[in-house]
Amino acid sequence: MSAPAAGPRPPALVLRDVVKEYEGVPPLRVLHGIDLTIAPGELLAVLGPSGSGKSTLLALIGTLDRPTSGSINLEGHDLARLSDKQVAALRARRIGFVFQQFFLLPGLTTVENVATGLLYTGETARTRRERAVSALKDVGLGHRLDHHPDQLSGGEKQRVAMARAVIGDPGLLLADEPTGALDTVSGAGVIDVLRGLNARGTTVIVITHDRDVAASFPRRIGIHDGRIAFDERDAGAGAPLESGIGGVRGVDTRSRPARRLA
Ligand code: ADP
Ligand code: MG
Repeated sequence: MSAPAAGPRPPALVLRDVVKEYEGVPPLRVLHGIDLTIAPGELLAVLGPSGSGKSTLLALIGTLDRPTSGSINLEGHDLARLSDKQVAALRARRIGFVFQQFFLLPGLTTVENVATGLLYTGETARTRRERAVSALKDVGLGHRLDHHPDQLSGGEKQRVAMARAVIGDPGLLLADEPTGALDTVSGAGVIDVLRGLNARGTTVIVITHDRDVAASFPRRIGIHDGRIAFDERDAGAGAPLESGIGGVRGVDTRSRPARRLA
């Protein structure tokens, strides 16, 4: 897998006419031609009714599945040109995931759970542990290092899952309803952590049902019946249209344009 050509930083993601059908008779078309460009360092919310295709979209972006047709380019890599093995390597290095369910391993401590995020990197056990401790401190859990998941609150478990997701320093963090199983206060804490990661440069995409959370994000994408229903950007948010590569196509052009950063 060759590195993208030198030059301006490529977009974090470019989706062109992405269609996804699930097998069946007849096939179930869940995404109907999604066009989307996301710049490095964006923080965006994905909104939409249940069943509209949000998780399917995130799974495609996260390389967990492949589109039926259309193209996905991740940080300059055209995924269709990569083998499954190459895609898996790219995913391991560049993408972190957080889900509504925390998927922590019950027999492991907090540190051990987070260190699993580095299992396939070739780091020594000692380095993995040190980095796990540091990642846990970053999410405010430095005092819970040796707890087991059943000794943690829901909000704490999600922080562990976030530390595990970002310990390898991925460029892209994908979160599918990360506050869906949490009370309001814990949920707000989780969103704060996501914001902090974004502030350090990580591109963050969050599926959320929480309209207040979404409203507080600089960019919001609405999915309806497998299509982009809206794509709104706050003035001054990000610089995705400055790259000269794309921007958003096929969406509501009445949404506010991106403005050049001061
Ligand atoms: P959302 O996350 O917006 O609730 P999903 O992307 O999970 O929506 O699902 C969109 C549609 O695709 C739903 O009708 C769902 O039942 C269907 N679907 C999701 N995953 C699969 C699958 N693996 N096989 C078949 N149908 C699926
Ligand atoms: Mg979903």
